[in-house]
Amino acid sequence: MARVLDLLFPRFCVACHAEGSYLCEKCSPAFSFETVPATCPFCHTSGSRSVCADCAPQVAIDGLIYAAPYADRRVRDLIHQWKFVGDRDAFEPLGKIIASRASFVLGLADAIVPVPLSTRRERSRGFNQAHWIAEMLSDASGIPLVHALTRGVHTTPRSQVDRLKRLVGDLDHVFAPRPPIPERVMVCDDVFTSGSTLDAAAKVLKEAGAKEAWGFVIAKS
Ligand SMILES: [Zn+2]
Ligand SMILES: [Zn+2]
Repeated sequence: MARVLDLLFPRFCVACHAEGSYLCEKCSPAFSFETVPATCPFCHTSGSRSVCADCAPQVAIDGLIYAAPYADRRVRDLIHQWKFVGDRDAFEPLGKIIASRASFVLGLADAIVPVPLSTRRERSRGFNQAHWIAEMLSDASGIPLVHALTRGVHTTPRSQVDRLKRLVGDLDHVFAPRPPIPERVMVCDDVFTSGSTLDAAAKVLKEAGAKEAWGFVIAKS
């Protein structure tokens, strides 16, 4: 059955386009991203992965680790195949990049927390991609995976919403804490664009008692 599917939907190496797999044996050793710059995730001031002093008052998240630039076509293709086409084999090379970044999260967090997907979306998609990322990062770093967030009704005072909107856009992601909340959390998602998802998650966790909340994603646009 699997071989029939391979014939119907052939896979191509995202680096050299050879047919057979998402990352061929020839390209696999070179599939790494050594030079991800350390910058503030919001204003791109360089030097540190922490949110800079100018942006910090406007967001809840303390910093961001990302494994690869979203501008890299290989990463975009893999995420597309994995998340939207639903081919789980495309996660294997992505998992390699996640594991290669495990050392960056050491010392920053006591727990790896996946961003929860709404049950309806998880059902239609069949899996929560943030959970896969969190599991891989947890295995590679030795930091435990904790489901400290769930989907829920979360009411933010209007004034705070207006203030946060300026930097991260609408808070359309609704999370609720699931105690016990670890002191320092590393919240995982697949892609960082405006940062609104991770920031909403960090905010909920901090309101529930977390002291520090960092984000981890495969790719940042
Ligand atoms: Zn190749
Ligand atoms: Zn900044």
